[in-house]
Amino acid sequence: MKDKKKVVILGSTGTIGRMSIDVIKKIDGFEIVGIASGKSVDLLLKQKSELPWVKTALTLTNSDDIDFCGEDAIEGLLNSTNPDIVIVGISGFVGLKYALLAAKYSKRLCLANKESIIAGGNFFFDSVKSYGCEIIPVDSEHNAVFQLLDSERSDIAAIYITASGGAIRDLPIEKLKDVTPEVVLKHPVWAMGARITVDSSSMFNKGLEIMEAHFLFNIEQEKIRVLVHPEGKIHGMISLKDGTVKALLSHADMRLPIIHALSYPERVKVLEEFEPSGIFNLFPPDHQRYPALDLAYDCLKDGDGARVAYNAADEIAVQAFLERKIGFTKIYETVSKVIDKGWPKVLNDYESIDNIDGKVRKLTLEMINKC
Ligand code: MG
Repeated sequence: MKDKKKVVILGSTGTIGRMSIDVIKKIDGFEIVGIASGKSVDLLLKQKSELPWVKTALTLTNSDDIDFCGEDAIEGLLNSTNPDIVIVGISGFVGLKYALLAAKYSKRLCLANKESIIAGGNFFFDSVKSYGCEIIPVDSEHNAVFQLLDSERSDIAAIYITASGGAIRDLPIEKLKDVTPEVVLKHPVWAMGARITVDSSSMFNKGLEIMEAHFLFNIEQEKIRVLVHPEGKIHGMISLKDGTVKALLSHADMRLPIIHALSYPERVKVLEEFEPSGIFNLFPPDHQRYPALDLAYDCLKDGDGARVAYNAADEIAVQAFLERKIGFTKIYETVSKVIDKGWPKVLNDYESIDNIDGKVRKLTLEMINKC
C-alpha cells in the first residue's frame, strides 16, 4: 500500500479550508497532519476534535489548547509536520509570506491565495522554484486552464477565464453607486468569502485573476481574455493556433479544483457526474460597467508596485464598502486614484513588496477617511 500524502491546510477555518477538510475525509491517499487559522480558535478546536492527531496553529491570537501560536506558528507547524502538500487557503496579502514558507517545507502548493501570485510576481515564482516546490492553482478558472494546457503542446493563441458577473450584473450602471453590501454579497453561482464576493461584482476579482494567469502560465497579457458566463459551467478555455478552442466544464463547486490540485495527475471521484447540457451564454464584459478589468491590464504593464497597489488598495476599499464607509463605485475610484500615485516598477524581495503593500494600505485608508 502506498503511503498517504501528508497535507497541511493553512486557513483551515475559511471557505477553502473547510471544503478541503470535507474533501480529504471522503478520499483515500491523503492525511491531514496540520491545520492553521488566523484567530478562529473555536472552529479550529472543533476541527481538531474531529481530527485528533493533527497539529494546530494560530497566527493572530494565543490559546493554551493550540500547538503553535503567534508570528512563528506556521513555521513551527510546517517544521513539525513535514507535509508533502500544503493547501494555501488563506486570503489576502498575508498569504504571500505563508505561501513562501510552505514552499520551503513541502513539495506541492495547492494555491488558492491569488494575492501571493499578484503581489509576489516573478519574485514569488522564482523563490518557489528554487525550493523545488510545484504550484497547482486552486482558483477555479486557473485550475481549468492548467488542466487544458496540460494536454496541449503547441503554442497558445489565447486563454479565456470566465466570470459570472456577480450579483448585480443586470442592474443599470447608474444604480451601482447606491447598491448595499447585502445585495452584493448574494453571489449567484459560487459560495465564497466576503471580499471575493464583492470583488466578483466589481470584477476586481477577475482583474486579479488576469494578473494571476499572466504569472501562472507565463503568458502575455494580450492573450488573456475574460468572458461573462452567467451559468458558471465553463470555467476556462484555451484557444489554439489552428482555431480550435478547448473548454473545461464542470460543476461550480470549489471541491473539484481542490481535489484536482491534491491528486494531480491522478483523478479521484467525489461528486456525481456532470451533465454538460443546457444553455451556455458567453459574451465579452462591458468595460464601462467593469472598469477594474482595464485597470488590471494597465497595472500589468506598469510593473510590480502597481500590482501590489491594485490588490492592497482594493482589499482596504472593499472593507470600507462592507463597513458602509464608501459606496460600491467608490471602490474603483479609490483604487485607481491610489495606483495613479505611481509605484516602483521592480520589487524583487519580500521586504520591498511588504513595504509597498503597507504604504498603499495607509494611503488608501487616508483617502477613504477624507471621503
Ligand atoms: Mg476564480
